[in-house]
Amino acid sequence: MYLLNVLIERNIYALNNTFLYASNDYVNKGVRVLVDFNSSKDLIGYVLEVNETTLTIEELKIEKGFNISFIKDIIDTKPLLNSELFELGKTLSKKYFYPLIGTYQTMLPKTLRPKNIKTKSHIAYDYFYKINRNNINAELTPFQKKILAKFNYFNEINKNELNKSKGLADLINKGIIEEIKKEKYRYKPQKLFEYENVINLTKEQERVYNEIINSNDLVYLLYGITGSGKTEIYIKLIEHYLKKNQTALILVPEISLTPLMISRILSYFNENEIAILHSSLKESERYDEYRKISLGKVKIVIGTRSAIFAPLDNIGLIILDEEDSSSYKEEKLLPYHAKEVAFIRAHYFNGKVILGSATPSIESMAKAKNKIYHLLRLEKRYNELNLPLISLVDRKDITNFSSKSYIFSLPLIKEIQNALKRNEQIILLVNNRGYGRTFYCRECGHVFKCPNCGSNLVYHKNTDSLLCHHCDYKMAKPNKCPNCGSHFLSFYDFGIEKVEEEFKKIFNVKYEVLDSDRTPKSLQISNILNKFNKKEVNVLIGTQIVSKGHDFSDVTLVGVINADSFLNYPSFRSYENTFNLITQTIGRAGRKDKPGKAIVQTSYLDNYAINYAINNDYESFFNKEIEQRKLLNNPPFYWVLKIEIESINENDLYDFGNDIYDLFALIEKDVIVYRLTNISFFKERYIGQVFVKYKRLSDIELTVNNLINIFKNKSGFKIKIDPNSYDY
Ligand code: ADP
Ligand code: ZN
Ligand code: ZN
Repeated sequence: MYLLNVLIERNIYALNNTFLYASNDYVNKGVRVLVDFNSSKDLIGYVLEVNETTLTIEELKIEKGFNISFIKDIIDTKPLLNSELFELGKTLSKKYFYPLIGTYQTMLPKTLRPKNIKTKSHIAYDYFYKINRNNINAELTPFQKKILAKFNYFNEINKNELNKSKGLADLINKGIIEEIKKEKYRYKPQKLFEYENVINLTKEQERVYNEIINSNDLVYLLYGITGSGKTEIYIKLIEHYLKKNQTALILVPEISLTPLMISRILSYFNENEIAILHSSLKESERYDEYRKISLGKVKIVIGTRSAIFAPLDNIGLIILDEEDSSSYKEEKLLPYHAKEVAFIRAHYFNGKVILGSATPSIESMAKAKNKIYHLLRLEKRYNELNLPLISLVDRKDITNFSSKSYIFSLPLIKEIQNALKRNEQIILLVNNRGYGRTFYCRECGHVFKCPNCGSNLVYHKNTDSLLCHHCDYKMAKPNKCPNCGSHFLSFYDFGIEKVEEEFKKIFNVKYEVLDSDRTPKSLQISNILNKFNKKEVNVLIGTQIVSKGHDFSDVTLVGVINADSFLNYPSFRSYENTFNLITQTIGRAGRKDKPGKAIVQTSYLDNYAINYAINNDYESFFNKEIEQRKLLNNPPFYWVLKIEIESINENDLYDFGNDIYDLFALIEKDVIVYRLTNISFFKERYIGQVFVKYKRLSDIELTVNNLINIFKNKSGFKIKIDPNSYDY
């Protein structure tokens, strides 16, 4: 008999240890089994350890002092994860103070998760016919001869092509033709854009390439201005490591950037060597891509954040393009950053991690300057192109606007018209979703707020509703003020829907909109990008999805409609985000042979993030920002531990918040603790956060684990711990 240590599917701290089950059959470590647990029937268990025993179940009961039940079924024949990923899960669970089962659930695609969910994917097959020469000696009818004429020694013919042919059944019965089935992979990557399949690196690119392949360092920060050809270097590096029989993983931050990266990789490498993993694949497609990777059939994986868990073996290279993007941080499940997982995996395989960006995060650049990462720079655009000519427009100066529009300034209108006359292309960035940002009563000033979380509600004209961008609460647009009864309701500030409406009024041309609310699917995004690329439209209006990565040769004008939208966002990263957004957006213009122009509209002419961005001065921005971070004890000087607690009782929440404060206040050095804050009420529960700033994880580790133990014995609470909160 075998004794199994099993994790139960429930992702909670109280069950973050294994339970013993018995099995008469041998079970592989790392497979799913069906078990009963307490009074719950048919839960999924995940086997962590297997030990043979000679004792009977009765003897075990006496030895252990409790009953051991048998598992009910074995679900998988093979372990879900290979040994590297199996161990990685344990490392990450400790590092992020997250239950192990939840860690494995985060790492696996939905259909393979050790969790009782309905969606199941099955392998799909294609059926073929093949000729069996050994059996051809029977008399054949003319129909049968005709069928056989389609075969030669090697070919296989798809079942559908032959199915209706006369005489086929007989050929199969006689064993002359045999049916074979092959695993089918349901996803076909699309090559949306054409790229050269020969790359000659420039001198500067070559230098960077050589420095990487000839060094033994683990992490490289490739800081290359927009249009300097980072992707070309990635491709050459991938080629290098593939030749050495290693594999490569390449991540982009958003789904909207996958079509471009896929096109570029497909232009250079063989389709059969590539798998794609991102969240808008269908579950069945994702299951296939995942299987393809774990069977060792591909050498390159392209994907978004969670693709960092792709079961690739022998990884030589992990690339995170646009490394500064916040999308690399998971906020809901295991609070990992793809970068941190990349370091662990690359280290395991003795591979390398390339962090690429035109605007490296302050943390990464600080580490590079301290020689923790290997810093590499590309200072010229490909073909020595100039960066666009940039002008700033003061939104507070009314002479910049006519009565026609308070969104499009006169200089911007003029440049758009000029570009359109020359049949060149334009990208307009509007970094606000919705139509009107703040919906309010013009009579009494009442502002409509989310009843759940208190955020300002945003008016969406498309659906004629008010939406909370914080918690997704939605209500029909009210026509009366609940405070004074007035019907005089309006909004200040504007979002992309309003910009679009105004664009239509001023310019009589076709355009496309890329808005995360309206075009969430990668196929829709691809279609829009494709249209723009083929110049079926000359204007692309979009939220921040248009700011990064795209490479359209005919874009000569970029307009940042409102550079200030990130500035007022309450986060220690708001300046960094503003600088990066403007720099990246400007970088979309003038990428091929035509010179580019950019117009940036702002109300904060003196803001340093905006000014350094339009002067293309990353270095000065970094110096100023790092000074501020130091002054305010922010990353990379201190890291931020976020503890979010939830309770149905407001007083209990405060009490627990105080306990947590007291617990961390006991730590003697290099820790700053803040009292419970950001309290909100959502779905009948009170939620609050305690922040702790610390310098080294080892300084807080013990206390966090103590907290988890205290929490386990408390009922009526929920807790969420993020040891490296991205924002606060
Ligand atoms: P980045 O990612 O650094 O913004 P890209 O890799 O998109 O830059 O390169 C910008 C443009 O220059 C692309 O159109 C790319 O094809 C072209 N390019 C860059 N390097 C080369 C090269 N060595 N040979 C040919 N074209 C190049
Ligand atoms: Zn009112
Ligand atoms: Zn809300």
